[in-house]
Amino acid sequence: MKIERVSTHVIMEELPIPFGMSQWFWTSRASCLVEIETTDGTIGWGECFGPAEPNRALIESVFADLVIGADPWERISLWEAMYNKNREWGRKGLPIAAISGIEIALWDIAGKQTGLPVYKLLGGRLPEELAAYASGFYYGGEWKDDIEAEAAHLIGQGYRYVKMKIGADLPGDIARVTRARAALGEDVQLAVDANRGYTPTEAMAFGRATRDLNLWFFEEPVIPEDLDGYREVRSALDVPIAGGESEFTRWGMRQLMESRAVDVLQPDATACGGLREAVLIAEQASAHGIPTLPHVWGSAITLAAGLHLATALPVVTPSMGRAGPVIELDQAPNTFRDHLSSLDLGPVLHVPEGPGLGIEIDRSLIEAYRV
Ligand code: CA
Repeated sequence: MKIERVSTHVIMEELPIPFGMSQWFWTSRASCLVEIETTDGTIGWGECFGPAEPNRALIESVFADLVIGADPWERISLWEAMYNKNREWGRKGLPIAAISGIEIALWDIAGKQTGLPVYKLLGGRLPEELAAYASGFYYGGEWKDDIEAEAAHLIGQGYRYVKMKIGADLPGDIARVTRARAALGEDVQLAVDANRGYTPTEAMAFGRATRDLNLWFFEEPVIPEDLDGYREVRSALDVPIAGGESEFTRWGMRQLMESRAVDVLQPDATACGGLREAVLIAEQASAHGIPTLPHVWGSAITLAAGLHLATALPVVTPSMGRAGPVIELDQAPNTFRDHLSSLDLGPVLHVPEGPGLGIEIDRSLIEAYRV
């Protein structure tokens, strides 16, 4: 039984209402899905983080030939072969996302061939329920910065953990977060995400101005290249500093950990190198006393992969008072997350129990949105 075919599907939807983070407004969503078929007819699905067309090009022109004809169970040697092929020029960024999409599809195949969900293959312990944190409070978007209305909506939906976008406008951000805290009340965990938008000085000013708001964590305060800036911000503030969605592989993440740049690490399985790489990163982080909180941004395939991953994370600081795994759930409109497959969506999530990733893909949706 060998890998017979590697296909990519680039899908895109235009968004009726653009929504923003510190860097830009999203006017569309696009994704590169990966479909791998084996000689026994098993089909596995994966997804790549980041710009869809370049991911497609990388898979079709660089990586597909390295895995076609190989045993799909040899995930580690295939990963190493793909990584090594790009070592000179692709140790971060899109080549790693392309590898991630292939690797996740190989896990889906392994699960389908054994009849086991991926979390069992990973050795994950299944909590009965996973809490979702609502990534919302974008700039603009459907709520048009009506923070009180969005807060009421999220509370009404039952969310206990939420995240707000900041990083584009320091004084405005302080005001928005202050309003969000007042609207959400003290019982809801409120995190903020600057998406690399502040200088260290601005990040420290934000943290000092919001010291009394009891923020859950402060994500990507500064650019990922500036680890000294991360450390400076982390040293100056009490709020936990999070980061890692803009970093890749065990080698890239090692620098974040060893330099004590973050309190919370946020690898994304569709970006950092795949599910095994995310587990390796989380294990490495645990040895540094750093918990992992997976980043999730994509279709139902990405969410399913994130759910399986979340069950297989090490417990870094055990104590009776700790909550279970929490996973990111984007609140902006997302057709591919909501309708490519049927997953529970809301403040309480369940890991799919079916074989592989445990999702059935609606191919008609892919055809309807194919680029
Ligand atoms: Ca983020």
